[in-house]
Amino acid sequence: MNKKDKVKKKKDKTKTKKHNIRHKWKLGIEELATKHFDVSSNAELIVREGNYQYNIHDLVKRFGTPLEVVFPFVIEERLNELINTFKYYIRLNKYRGKFYFHYPMKVNQNKEFVLPIISEGAHIEVGSVNELWIVKRMWEQEQFSRQIKVICNGPKTNKYLGLIYELKQKGLDIVPIIEDRYELDSLKEYRGELGIRVDPEIKVQSHWDKRIDRFGFPGRELLELGRIRNLKILHYHIGSQIIKLEDMISPLKKVMDVYIKLKAMNPTLDTINLGGGFAVPYIKRKMYSADSIVKRLLRTLKEIADRRGIPHPNIIVEWGRYLVAPAQITIYRIISQKPIPKSTASWWYIIDGSFINDLPDTWAIHQKWHVVPVNYLNAERLSRVWLAGSSCDSDDKYTGNSNYVSLPRLEDLEQNDKSLYITFFDTGAYQDSLASHHCLLSSPAKIIAQNGVITVARKRETAEEVGKQFGW
Ligand SMILES: *Cc1c(COP(=O)(O)O)cnc(C)c1O
Repeated sequence: MNKKDKVKKKKDKTKTKKHNIRHKWKLGIEELATKHFDVSSNAELIVREGNYQYNIHDLVKRFGTPLEVVFPFVIEERLNELINTFKYYIRLNKYRGKFYFHYPMKVNQNKEFVLPIISEGAHIEVGSVNELWIVKRMWEQEQFSRQIKVICNGPKTNKYLGLIYELKQKGLDIVPIIEDRYELDSLKEYRGELGIRVDPEIKVQSHWDKRIDRFGFPGRELLELGRIRNLKILHYHIGSQIIKLEDMISPLKKVMDVYIKLKAMNPTLDTINLGGGFAVPYIKRKMYSADSIVKRLLRTLKEIADRRGIPHPNIIVEWGRYLVAPAQITIYRIISQKPIPKSTASWWYIIDGSFINDLPDTWAIHQKWHVVPVNYLNAERLSRVWLAGSSCDSDDKYTGNSNYVSLPRLEDLEQNDKSLYITFFDTGAYQDSLASHHCLLSSPAKIIAQNGVITVARKRETAEEVGKQFGW
């Protein structure tokens, strides 16, 4: 074998090794929303944004843990792909309605999320007066184009109504959604376009689709309301993280029936708003794709509209979780371990943060997450572990999807680099605004990685800052 061949063989070997590591930790896979993740030659986690590359271990050494890293380019890419997919199927089907993406702000209200989203052409959905105040803020700072439409959900308090009227007056394209008879009444004098929310009364597989909830009018009741001036949108939202593709389609079919009857009474009605629900592959098993769902939605809508002889409705979706969850990761250091005598896992790994505080869905709804080491990705031997948070609470833990998490053994770490860091994927949706301060632990620091530049979005809280929130 000559020298050249030797070098080539060595290169091939590292290639397969890298491939195996990627495969093992499910990195670099588009359908699993991990396509930007890869492993470096020294077995550390990296994220690629075009030709820019971020080494997560380096970031951790620079900024410490717990650490949240936000990747706005992931949001921008996902939104563009979604809009283009709709465009493609609208053209293919000769669909005559328009498509609008409205970002439901409650999913993540942070500036580093909202600004990239509207800059890429999204409209907005808000659920409270304070979320609408953010719209006002952007409007005043001239960060908000007149093209952007704002949909207002949630109970309309007097303050909320006041701000809706104020922004309407200022020229904002704002559409309140009527959720009950009180709101129907208080919006009687409203001069702009209105929407109304229907309860599809159908059960789908989702944590949030409760047998009984308070949202929207049952279809029959809605049709008894008679004419509603300037009615533009029929809205429903059945739940979040809807597991099956069919469950995204069947409520639509049911609601279209109401739409057609409602439109007969209200000819201005021309838009159907499907709300949220598009699921994220948190546990890195393949689910339905944007392509498959958009294709089905458009075919279904066109088929119903054509058969019943009505114009193709405009379509609004508010798929928040899908858009933003994969744009953030949360990193912890393992600070110690402790044996577990008799269980599916053999060690507790204690992290330097808290699930209850930083990833509250772990605790609230037993959310499962994909967990990957930040360093030592090439570890040959793995331990089955449970993760414990640093609060004093026995509920502060994460025991994995199969009742254990596989991570490198602490005994195998090199002497000169004893710290094992781990990251949770897909933490960009819902966790931040639900976060708390149990045991007065500080929130993770947060940085933004964009165009090869790192900026700090939230510094690590000091004891003074946390204490202050409690009156000290
Ligand atoms: C919460 C919510 C959404 C977002 O749901 P996702 O499952 O995150 O897409 C959209 N619309 C309304 C009305 C909501 O309440």
